[in-house]
Amino acid sequence: MTEAIRPQPGILDIALYEGGKAHLAGVANAVKLSSNENPYGPSDRAKEVFGRTVHSLHRYPVTDHASLRTAIAEVHRLDASRIICGAGSDEIITFLCQAYAGPGDEVVFTEHGFLMYRISSLAAGATPVEVPERERTADVDAILGACTGATRLVFLANPNNPTGTMVSAAEVARLAEGLPPQALLVLDGAYAEYVDGYDGGAALVDARQNVVLTRTFSKIYGLGGLRIGWGYGPRHVIDVLNRIRGPFNLSTTQLETAEAAVRDQDHVVRCRAENTRMRSWLAGALAELGVPSDTSMANFILARFASREEAEACDAYLNAQGLIVRRVAGYKLPHCLRITIGDEAACRQVAHAVAQFKGVR
Ligand code: PMP
Repeated sequence: MTEAIRPQPGILDIALYEGGKAHLAGVANAVKLSSNENPYGPSDRAKEVFGRTVHSLHRYPVTDHASLRTAIAEVHRLDASRIICGAGSDEIITFLCQAYAGPGDEVVFTEHGFLMYRISSLAAGATPVEVPERERTADVDAILGACTGATRLVFLANPNNPTGTMVSAAEVARLAEGLPPQALLVLDGAYAEYVDGYDGGAALVDARQNVVLTRTFSKIYGLGGLRIGWGYGPRHVIDVLNRIRGPFNLSTTQLETAEAAVRDQDHVVRCRAENTRMRSWLAGALAELGVPSDTSMANFILARFASREEAEACDAYLNAQGLIVRRVAGYKLPHCLRITIGDEAACRQVAHAVAQFKGVR
């Protein structure tokens, strides 16, 4: 870097995001439980539509995403004109920071909150403000206490990654009500589909002018590789975000595959049921081995060990058994490992390996 050519303030403070490890040296068929992916993949109908889009690759995609927005709106009973789609919910988070936070502004999120909130606020030149959690759960009073006249955005993932914990609808409503007038609450619902009957905060969005929600096709829809997410908010916010959205930010393949996926709610129901069943089985099995976790509402559990050393030793042991889970020291949880709920075979392998690890020590 030369003295003269330098990026905008904040950008060099960004620590590079590290994704979940995908491979283990020397292991051909490692079981990847490090990125909260759906072990059953996308719906068959989505895969069929994906294949068919090969015939239109020479065409530019539509810019208004009308057909996908209509499908999302019908399934979730929302107003299609207040939906915006992006390359993963990451892109919606980026739009929000770019549009609402700049130098001198503060972006509030919690201690164990998703790392993209910090990255996107720094990229926008804003100041990230991290709020302590209570027992690995967001604390609404602490968040409200951290808000100032400079707060422009408040991010809350519900359920949260990597803790899996959730704040009640009443608490979220209290948070929205208590924010300073210039602050927008962003409810990140990346894992919302795993909570039976949860609307991701849509009713609160409809009732207010200061709440936006984000959702994704990367988790329960099994389409993390395709990069599709969406947001829903008050008209004034969606209008702002659409001004900075690239006109062709989603390809025809992304749009049509996502539309088929959202219309196949049977697949969602099946995946949710399997996740719930295996999540309680795995949490129970690990607890019996002396590895507790908070009740998770998502598709992973946060396994707690006695120390950082024990968590790292268990991680290494799991790797040696061909299992990849996620270290979460970067989320200020060095004594924990985040384990995605795989299929039954994968969950049994994890429990077996942790039992061996505990036994051999
Ligand atoms: N929010 C949370 C809480 C997440 O865990 C993730 C994925 N790790 C995302 C947003 C972003 O997901 P995507 O960009 O794939 O939609």
